Amino acid sequence: EDVNKFINFLKENSQFIYSVILIILIPILIVANTLWQIRSSNATQEAEQEKKALLTEAVLVNSIDVIKQPPAYIQNQIDNIAKENDEIKEITILNTKSDGFAVLASTNQQNLGLTFTSEEYIKAFAQDKPSINIIQDTSKTTNERFLTVSAPIKNSLSAQKTALVNVKISLSDIDTLNRKNYSTTLVFLVVTVFLVLLLLINFARFFEFAVLFKKLNEVDKMKDDFISIATHEMKTPMAAIKGYISMMMEGLVGKFDDKTRDHLLKINTNIQRLDLLLSETLDVSRLEQGRMQFDMQPYDISKVVEQSIKMSLDQAITKGLKLSQEKLERMPMTFIDPDRIQQVVDNLIGNAVKYTQKGSVTVLYKMENGQLRVIVKDTGIGMNEEDRKGLFTKFYRIKNEKTVDIAGTGLGLWIAREIVRKMNGDILVNSKENVGSEFIISLPYMKEKV
Ligand code: ADP
Repeated sequence: EDVNKFINFLKENSQFIYSVILIILIPILIVANTLWQIRSSNATQEAEQEKKALLTEAVLVNSIDVIKQPPAYIQNQIDNIAKENDEIKEITILNTKSDGFAVLASTNQQNLGLTFTSEEYIKAFAQDKPSINIIQDTSKTTNERFLTVSAPIKNSLSAQKTALVNVKISLSDIDTLNRKNYSTTLVFLVVTVFLVLLLLINFARFFEFAVLFKKLNEVDKMKDDFISIATHEMKTPMAAIKGYISMMMEGLVGKFDDKTRDHLLKINTNIQRLDLLLSETLDVSRLEQGRMQFDMQPYDISKVVEQSIKMSLDQAITKGLKLSQEKLERMPMTFIDPDRIQQVVDNLIGNAVKYTQKGSVTVLYKMENGQLRVIVKDTGIGMNEEDRKGLFTKFYRIKNEKTVDIAGTGLGLWIAREIVRKMNGDILVNSKENVGSEFIISLPYMKEKV
């Protein structure tokens, strides 16, 4: 069961596996790269040494003549060459005899007087090209490696093979360097692995955050779902309550005395507030989850404003306010969802009437930079800069003695701006305390005639 749990965990968090693979892969790549570098540098160095050995061999093959030159002369010649090249460990000139290869001259004193019968010499002598070998001297603890080049020497007149030259170059310098490189690589590897381990520990911590973040998002979604379902479920009982109250207010269930009637009015006002809160909460959750549908079409927004003015006119007249719009001579078409924009304009005009004690509420239009600006202007209480700051945040309401008796949810402006933004527009505000406010809906208008 624990194994299953672990497998599920990995399945859900595939990025964890990727990261672990990466973390393992990095040191492997580093080591592989270094080893490859060492190998290729080793190869070039060996090739370099080989060139040197071949060159020495070529010089000797061309200059030595075992028939004409006395052994002492040859010995002197090879001694001089060996002296000038540190890497040359040994040069030996061998004379072919019926029983093998007799040492004629050698930079190695111990070889003098010896006769060799080794396979390699026989093979090298049989060939026309120089034969190259790498041999390891296992007799000493140093395990020194040598590069040997052997080639037959021909008689200058008869072109007959008469002797064998053997040049031996030590590879110990290269090997020491390589050993050093290997140990440096090892140190680097250990340090890298250590750092990667540190990274892993750190990564584990980050991973915890990632899991937490994911959970947080899930919880957030659950919250959104809960609000959306809960508010939706409240709509049905709310409709029933509203229905019964309006029946009672219309006197369809009998007459009430003044006191009961008064209570009924209060219940009605509060139910209406609750209903508004409910529908606004639903709108908020729809907008936040991107579930609000928009039916976009070319439309003259002044028609929407007209409708809105009709709706608020009673309230405006009661307060003694002038409420009107000043249309442009030719109203441009905007690409909007008329029903959704109605909700926005209703809110702005409703607010203007709500927060204006005397004077007027006027809707003006302006065409500017390809945008149609719908300006809802009032001569109301206005607001100062400080209060204006949080204006478009959810549940934001300005609290002072002028607004204390005015009911509202503080959701209206947030919803209005979100809706307008979904239609590629925006809402801006200008306001002065005790002078009035301007709420400006900006929408791109259509250039072509529809
Ligand atoms: P509500 O009106 O339900 O409180 P809104 O989001 O529509 O919520 O408005 C937020 C706040 O902005 C209001 O509480 C009010 O203080 C302020 N406000 C909105 N419109 C106006 C206006 N035309 N004049 C002055 N204040 C306003």
